[in-house]
Amino acid sequence: MPQTVQVLDTHMHGWQGITAVYLLDGPRPAIIDTGPGSSIDRILPALEAAGVDSLAWIVLTHIHLDHAGAAGHLARRFPEAKVVVRAEGGRHLADPSRLWSSAARLYPDMETLWGPMLAIDAGRIVAVSEDGPAVDLGAGRRLEAFYAPGHAKHQMALLDSATGDMFVGDALGVRVPEAGVVRPAAPPPEFDLELVIDTAARLHSLQPARVFPTHFGPAPDVDQIFDEAPRRFIQWVEAAEKVVAAGGALNELIEDFRARREEFYPTLRPETVAKFEYSCSYDLNSRGILRYLQRRPG
Ligand SMILES: [Zn+2]
Repeated sequence: MPQTVQVLDTHMHGWQGITAVYLLDGPRPAIIDTGPGSSIDRILPALEAAGVDSLAWIVLTHIHLDHAGAAGHLARRFPEAKVVVRAEGGRHLADPSRLWSSAARLYPDMETLWGPMLAIDAGRIVAVSEDGPAVDLGAGRRLEAFYAPGHAKHQMALLDSATGDMFVGDALGVRVPEAGVVRPAAPPPEFDLELVIDTAARLHSLQPARVFPTHFGPAPDVDQIFDEAPRRFIQWVEAAEKVVAAGGALNELIEDFRARREEFYPTLRPETVAKFEYSCSYDLNSRGILRYLQRRPG
């Protein structure tokens, strides 16, 4: 029996076990998410080691640089592959310049962190705008897409019809295996708490057999992660509301989150906190939550 999903490590920013590429092998093989462009020298050998010499599909849960940054590189290496993405994100793959410049407002050294992002020929992009079968893996196996906004408006989850495995991108935040806890991923400009909660409930109601956040690997307990993730997002937003009510702004919020680490995550080791900082930093989450609070009516 072949493996139904393989977890490839992109070694993003030199760290093991932060950002995955999921490989679904078969008659029409697919990967889900690509890692950043800066990891391409890790991703290509990992695909080769897994015996991949052709890809039918490059599927993106969403277009953030740590998920889609290497898509253009992989599209060049696998010219037969189609690139599947939510419709909201499609044009940014064909012309990444706006995506790149908006990320450049948040990160000081884009090239080193993320590597170049290459444009993808629009004719190879499959834009998904409704829920349902989206990717034919062959032999009756398919991926169904489910819209999953909240972390970003251009996000979808994918459900494997053969296994019941669900690939959720950042919809449930970030869960590095050794931490055993969820940290919200609440980046600007689109983070929206109500949508995160609604998305988590809808995905849970589909009763997946296993859940794979892109950061990183299968969660050991499906009901547990669907229970914990919304609570964590609420916990962080409620903390931010207090800081804002006391007149605090971005720096105060970042400091408040740092100070609450032991309260929120009493079992977390310092090295694990450092890993979280590379996927959803205090800075990024603070900016995203503040923007959400400013936008929220009332
Ligand atoms: Zn993301």
